[in-house]
Amino acid sequence: MAVPDLPTPLVDAAATLLDRHVAIDRELAEQLVALSDEHLPQLFALAHQVRLAWMGPAVEVESIISAKTGGCPEDCTFCSQSARYRADVVREPMLATDRLVELARQTKAIGGTEFCIVVAVRGPDERMLSAVIEATAATRKAVDIEVAASLGLLKDGQAERLAAAGVHRYNHNLEAGPGFFPQICTTHSFDDRVATCRRVVAAGMELCSGGIFGMGESWSDRLDLAFVLHDLGTREIPCNFLNPRPGTPLGDTRLLPPLEALRCVALFRCINPGAVLRYAGGREVVLRDLQAYGMLAGINGLIVGNYLTTLGRSAEADLTMLADLGMPVAAAPLT
Ligand code: SF4
Repeated sequence: MAVPDLPTPLVDAAATLLDRHVAIDRELAEQLVALSDEHLPQLFALAHQVRLAWMGPAVEVESIISAKTGGCPEDCTFCSQSARYRADVVREPMLATDRLVELARQTKAIGGTEFCIVVAVRGPDERMLSAVIEATAATRKAVDIEVAASLGLLKDGQAERLAAAGVHRYNHNLEAGPGFFPQICTTHSFDDRVATCRRVVAAGMELCSGGIFGMGESWSDRLDLAFVLHDLGTREIPCNFLNPRPGTPLGDTRLLPPLEALRCVALFRCINPGAVLRYAGGREVVLRDLQAYGMLAGINGLIVGNYLTTLGRSAEADLTMLADLGMPVAAAPLT
């Protein structure tokens, strides 16, 4: 049986991304979305080549720590940390600085180069901001690791204070494209989230922002998100796959088919070739045996261990996967 010929959109994408070294445009992205499943292995192979050409073979490993869990006043329909839903999340107050430093040490011990402090809030009040600034200073003094933070919507001046404290990357996911966002959240807007992303960049921190695939969004919504992230200069893009949480409005949502999830990864790589594309939540349940395939379809970052409200598989299993694939763990952040 003959290997299928490379279809024109893949030839054009390879010329754009590998020869001219620029990201693909919307028209070409739509053509890649329309490729038949028969051509998926070729699309994944191209995304992998793009990742190698733009970012190299190393994989960035990070851990995220839920420093304060649950009780968020917002109404994001996918989120078990919203106080509005009866999800099985145990509320936890803010972790003490000593505990955060210890967890950063553990992250360093497994090869992590970045330690992200996450709190479930609409945005930080003064007490929370001061606690994170204190924890950042203590962590940077005690552990050779970069500190990132995810504290929700930021007001004027807050991004600058975090940057001055040594937070090098700030996570604020856009979650979905602008057309779909109002269907998953009504207590704040897509533009509110974009404004925080712009504050992060203006303050000199690297922007980490991504989304969740499988909430009922269309391919057009996904491409909208990918191009907004590109235009914002996003350095790291967490790829989450909806793992429906019981008790949330999306609790009964059908899981995304694995090959569709991997097509999302490959498209995001071709639209954001110079970003760290990071596996985040939901990959175990959505991709199952195909998790390693994502590493050959554009992914070059891993969040290992705890995903805030669901336990990921062990860090050892992920490190074994990287060793089996012959992919080195990055000794420093890739961006
Ligand atoms: S703002 Fe964040 S923590 Fe709060 S409900 Fe939305 S996604 Fe969850």
